[in-house]
Amino acid sequence: MATKKEQTPKIYFLDVTNRDGVQTAKLGLSKLEKTMINIYLNEMGVFQSEFGFPTTRHEARYLEANLELAKMGVLKPIRLEGWIRAIVEDVKTAFKFVPNIKHLNLSISTSEQMLKGKFRGKKTEDDIIKDMTDAVDAARALGAESVGVNAEDASRTELGFLVKFGQAAKEHGAARLRYCDTLGYDNPFSIYETMKALAENVGIALEVHCHGDLGMAVANSLAGAKGTVDGGQDAYINTTVNGIGERAGNADLVATVLALNKSKSFAKNYQLGNPIKLAVAAKIAEFASYAFDVPIPLNQPGVGANAFAHASGIHADGVLKDPENYELYSYKELGRGKPKFVETGREIISGQYSGIAGFRHLMGKMNVTFGTKDEAADILELVRYANVQSHKPLVEDELLFIAKYPHIAQKVLTQTPLVLETM
Ligand SMILES: [Zn+2]
Repeated sequence: MATKKEQTPKIYFLDVTNRDGVQTAKLGLSKLEKTMINIYLNEMGVFQSEFGFPTTRHEARYLEANLELAKMGVLKPIRLEGWIRAIVEDVKTAFKFVPNIKHLNLSISTSEQMLKGKFRGKKTEDDIIKDMTDAVDAARALGAESVGVNAEDASRTELGFLVKFGQAAKEHGAARLRYCDTLGYDNPFSIYETMKALAENVGIALEVHCHGDLGMAVANSLAGAKGTVDGGQDAYINTTVNGIGERAGNADLVATVLALNKSKSFAKNYQLGNPIKLAVAAKIAEFASYAFDVPIPLNQPGVGANAFAHASGIHADGVLKDPENYELYSYKELGRGKPKFVETGREIISGQYSGIAGFRHLMGKMNVTFGTKDEAADILELVRYANVQSHKPLVEDELLFIAKYPHIAQKVLTQTPLVLETM
């Protein structure tokens, strides 16, 4: 049996909006929108952002530019980590496309279902372990500072094999094992037991990655984290903003933070690794909703339009006498309650075909002025390109970001498709 950590294990947040979220069918984010998500996650105090796909050509410049932001201290202290398959070829491609990448998560299926149904019996359990350990070795040899290993479909994998898989990952220097409930198959009771056993028997920090196919993503995340900590290891909860993710989605970031902090007795017994600023919740949820073009459900915990609305006589009377009568937490904690400016008259907004006069007007409203005509024209050019990618007016924070970091914005927005040699 593996030894327990000497310090009390803690719970961290690892957001995967920019990987699992953007893999969602029918949805996507522009590279600038992904950058903004990283900025808000950092502001919120999230430990790590799975910021994209380093083996995908069109991601490379965005990833490098965000790593540059980290170096500049703009994306600090958040850790930026790329997701790839657990094969040596992907590791090599990742370092070729994104040479400055420092943190990677390597993913491979582990369940019997996937071995039979996906790999069609061409891979044995030993092959899976060999692919994974070779990939971990390669990542470390090429300079990865931290490597996480993902067991895809872990909840349908036999525990004995998961332990063996985790031990091999640990022996090869992986920092964490991600337990993926890929199909949302677990319940809080099953995931607690499995993750506790994994923590105890492998002795490695665990990530809990839950999906909502049975409506239990947040509850399962909490139970998985509890099992991990009870088993003596640090837990890393995977979330996405507004729960956007494949099929029925992932554990929602804000709801999971609330569940951890506000549910009965949990926060008394389990500690967060780094404090989460809930005050950023409304902002990040609204931005993600706008960027993905998916409305926040009316009854979404914390950030839904009805989360603090009261109509019935008894509730309204009660909440007016003392908010705690009918509210578990305050809207102010989530960054709500500030007046919102909604233009009801003439609107000047950014677009792909914006001109200099409109642009200067727009920026002037945010007290941004330009030294020269050329400088304003350059920033406008970047704003136009950002609009080409996002197909909607940029929000103030995006415009301010481009004006403040034009060289980074240029990298984020630049796409160079392959030169086709066959045509
Ligand atoms: Zn997932």
